[in-house]
Amino acid sequence: MTRNKNVKLLDENGRRSDGRLPDEMRPLKIEAGVLRNADGSAYVELGNNKVIAAVYGPREVTPRHEALSDRAILRCKYSMLPFSVAERKSPQPSRREIELSKVIREALTPAIFLNEYPRTTIDVFINILEADGGTRTASIIAAAVALADAGIAMRDLVAAIAVGKIGDILVLDINGLEDQHGDGDMPIAMMPKLGEVTLIQADGVFTPEEIERALSMVSKPIKRIYEEQVKALKSKYESIRQEVTESE
Ligand code: ADP
Repeated sequence: MTRNKNVKLLDENGRRSDGRLPDEMRPLKIEAGVLRNADGSAYVELGNNKVIAAVYGPREVTPRHEALSDRAILRCKYSMLPFSVAERKSPQPSRREIELSKVIREALTPAIFLNEYPRTTIDVFINILEADGGTRTASIIAAAVALADAGIAMRDLVAAIAVGKIGDILVLDINGLEDQHGDGDMPIAMMPKLGEVTLIQADGVFTPEEIERALSMVSKPIKRIYEEQVKALKSKYESIRQEVTESE
């Protein structure tokens, strides 16, 4: 990643292009159960990112020979819609989307009791409606809520956020401009209650000390994201409870 020095990412007061301080994350909004026809679903806004995740399953595996006798298979499909970026994106799956589907699946897998559902598949579809840096972290946040909304047995939720680098300064939750012109991007996913990292990637150069610092920098925001995920799930079930009470 090469830095374009003409793009100013930090001003003299240490503020970023969107006015945030280095350790500030973008506004986060989560809604659970937004789709009637999926078994579970969630909508997430992280800054300008808009993401929807839908879960089907556990259900019968097709093709059948892919079924595993001792556990469910988890399938994830990450897709960017053609209008999600400034220049129309082809609807054909790109290499990046295929890779991100795998990365997201690996970040979610440790949280799911797959052995509770032998011979089935759990399918997670993620659509990016609008992208502005950090779509994989927003996707993981949405997919974890959608899985819980589908009633899938889970050890924990999975929350995710990226740490970027501008010069020597570590910045939380980089946006698209910072991703494009900054010096590094390190997405981190964690099971917040268990405190276990399920994904860590790095684009750019990070020293071992910077990796340590990045991990401690995400600890508070991961907790905050987890609280928002739980709040979204609770509020869905609270509204169902109200509907049932009112109809009685
Ligand atoms: P992430 O979205 O997880 O940060 P990347 O680092 O690969 O993943 O992408 C960073 C950002 O680059 C995306 O969030 C999006 O804003 C932008 N981007 C990715 N793919 C495209 C594309 N095909 N066209 C335009 N912008 C894109």
